[in-house]
Amino acid sequence: EEVFVMSDKDDKGTPPGDDFQQRLQEMFRNANVAFMMTPPGAGPEPEGGDAPTDESPADNEQALKLVREFNFKPHEIRDYLDRFVIQQQDAKKVLSVAICDHYNHVRRCIEDPSRATEDYAKHNIVLLGPTGVGKTYLLRCIARLIGVPLVKADATKFSETGYVGHDVEDLVRDLVRSADGDTELAQYGIIYVDEIDKIASSSSTSGGKDVSGRGVQINLLKLMEETEVNLHSQSDLVGQIQAVMDMQQGKGHKRTINTRHMLFIVSGVFGDLADLVKRRVDSSQIGFSQDDGAEKDAAEYLKRASTKDFVDYGFEPEFVGRLPVRTVCDSLRAEDLEEILLKSEGSILRQYRGDFAGYGIELDVDEDAIPEIAARAAEEETGARGLMTVLERTLREFKFELPATSLKSFTLTADTVRNPAAALGRALKRRRRASGQRAMKMAVGEFAARFEKEHGFILTFSAKALDCLSGMASDKGISIQAVCEERLKDLEYGLPLVVRRTAKRSFSISEEMILDPGKELAALIAAGFESSENASTPRKKARGTK
Ligand code: ADP
Repeated sequence: EEVFVMSDKDDKGTPPGDDFQQRLQEMFRNANVAFMMTPPGAGPEPEGGDAPTDESPADNEQALKLVREFNFKPHEIRDYLDRFVIQQQDAKKVLSVAICDHYNHVRRCIEDPSRATEDYAKHNIVLLGPTGVGKTYLLRCIARLIGVPLVKADATKFSETGYVGHDVEDLVRDLVRSADGDTELAQYGIIYVDEIDKIASSSSTSGGKDVSGRGVQINLLKLMEETEVNLHSQSDLVGQIQAVMDMQQGKGHKRTINTRHMLFIVSGVFGDLADLVKRRVDSSQIGFSQDDGAEKDAAEYLKRASTKDFVDYGFEPEFVGRLPVRTVCDSLRAEDLEEILLKSEGSILRQYRGDFAGYGIELDVDEDAIPEIAARAAEEETGARGLMTVLERTLREFKFELPATSLKSFTLTADTVRNPAAALGRALKRRRRASGQRAMKMAVGEFAARFEKEHGFILTFSAKALDCLSGMASDKGISIQAVCEERLKDLEYGLPLVVRRTAKRSFSISEEMILDPGKELAALIAAGFESSENASTPRKKARGTK
């Protein structure tokens, strides 16, 4: 620290500022000291998207108010979760209660700080269940509802010492980062550690990880209980320097954060644990009545896991003891996946709609596409993540091709899902045809405009006439304009004869006129004669031209 005291003022006696920092960094560079900054993304990642990572201080203030005045009821939390997370009713109830208990306690401690020193067993949670069924999503929704920061990391990336890999304390520092440096809010945050089953030390599970697994459990245990975590890790030199400078500038920032009020969730698939419980239950014959003899889902066994099962599985008894709330998420069936697509406010389908809307393209989804997507997603066996896989596979090429066209909407059907390439081909072909028609209408319009200008007649074309023109153009390999010139060159002489004595100026061009202009014109002229004759005898109704 001596060094920094000396550098407190620069030569001119001005207080240290950015300039000072620069000089400091330079000094280190010259001394060939590497800055051991955590590379971006290397630490535990704050949950993207919904997590309140980019909250402004005003939002933080609001979140803090919500915590201080926490008054959600379990029902309200469950109802909120229902809007986003499909199924998992058990987990929703258990989590809602645990969350309310936790934040009620936090509120009471804020109201009366003496409570904080009383014994209290925190409602830390173990969430078991297959991948992609909403474990993280549940917590993300809860964190968003309350406005507290949430960080998630995989247990496998931590090492016991923190020299290799990451230190569990990084989780806490990341929580602070995700609260925009607001330590007050961060102390009420949620820490989510996934793949906790991989750090079980039992030899029956992951071989090789044993020693470090146990160490990480113990380190996590310390965090879960209560500990002061340094805001700057040992390896974060720049952070350390910043902290010292802040102190010298009298900013007096807190340098540690207490984990007492943080809520810890650990989760994992725990596949082997289900087997372990199955063996125990099946051998004792007491657990399940052998009612229908049907194969029980892994979740059914996990729901019956006892503390002893967790310990047998390879967890330290104290570690399991700090995780009193246990709940299991069920695997999602195809019907559930359909429901996610249709009802979840966070449905991935909405996201895709948004992606296309970004190009001004409206994505419509046919009813029959939903079961098709869900069935294919279920085959992936990655829970709701399968939906993403299937949609990505289906729509990838569309996302690339459609923005280059003038298409404004397209419909996702079951066929699209079954054969995206063919569906895209059809859509593009339709598009080409449509734009070809537009070009044709323009060409015909130009011909008509010129004709009107030169000869004073307004020409309109029937749909069949237009088809006929474009057919001829492509047969002969010439432009629509040229076909018009060629087929309709006699009109300028014929039409004046047709309307000799009338004021008629507008003519509809039929398909017949295009196919055989000579014959049609002759017929028109004849009819014109007749009608002008009739015109002199007013009581007879005039027969119009074609
Ligand atoms: P995990 O159970 O492995 O933690 P996640 O919660 O991260 O899985 O799920 C991945 C994504 O799948 C979520 O972000 C969410 O969009 C979707 N999802 C998963 N489960 C559900 C569910 N039950 N209801 C609605 N969406 C879900």
